This record gives sequence, C-alpha cells and structure tokens, in this order.
Amino acid sequence: MARGEGDFAPVLACPSAPATPGAGLLGVATPDGHIAYLRTLMQVDADFLATARAAGVPEARMRFTHECQTSACRQWTGSACGVITRVLDAMGPGLSPPAKLSPCPIRGTCRWFAQEGPVACTACAEVLTDTREPA
Ligand code: SF4
Repeated sequence: MARGEGDFAPVLACPSAPATPGAGLLGVATPDGHIAYLRTLMQVDADFLATARAAGVPEARMRFTHECQTSACRQWTGSACGVITRVLDAMGPGLSPPAKLSPCPIRGTCRWFAQEGPVACTACAEVLTDTREPA
C-alpha cells in the first residue's frame, strides 16, 4: 500500500483500518460493545469479507488493521493520526491507562500506542471503525 511523501519513520499499523483483502482481523465487538482482541492476527481475504458483508458492515462489528497510510489517509493531521486524538478528546481528560495492558497482537507497531501510549489502549477497546447500523 502506498504511503505518503516524506515518511521516514518505521511503518506503523493502523488499528482501525477498513475491511479490505489483506487486512488483519484485530478484534471482534462483544455484546457489551467492547473489543475483544485476537491473540494472533488473522489475515482476511475477499471470501472472508464477502461472507462477513452478507451479515452487515464488517467494520461495525469487527476491527481490522493494516499499514498506517500517514498522509495518504484522510484522518492524518500532518503529523499524527487524528482518530485517536479525537477519541481521547471525546472520552475526556479523566481517562487513565489500564492498570495492566491486555494482550494485543499489534502493540509493538500500533500507531495509536506509539502516538498516545497506554491510554490509547483504554480508548481503543471502545472504538468501532464504522458505527452505521448493518443494512
Ligand atoms: S491502541 Fe492498544 S489495544 Fe488498541 S490496537 Fe493499539 S496497542 Fe492494541
């Protein structure tokens, strides 16, 4: 996937990527709306996504990861991912990092963790990429 110009930092992973072939399945929404993370990423293909779409918008109930696109992404602010910044702002200044980080298969390369640190993981578990109701 293409990255923007002037990207010299190591490639980081977007933890809220669109459901596209080649993406990794990162987690699944539980009935209470939290994300349960997979222990190991599962790369998804077109067949998986076609099956998932038959039951509605995949991003409304699953989270996917792919290479962070930096300036090629409309969420890029010019120096950072605007999504996690907005989520943290919305959740308020009282949000704290988890006492103990849950296992996450992309923590070592996660854009949000690299940008915001452990508090990103507190917010992350509440995020669905697409909150539209399934058609
Ligand atoms: S923010 Fe934390 S929990 Fe979410 S994907 Fe990144 S490292 Fe994993």
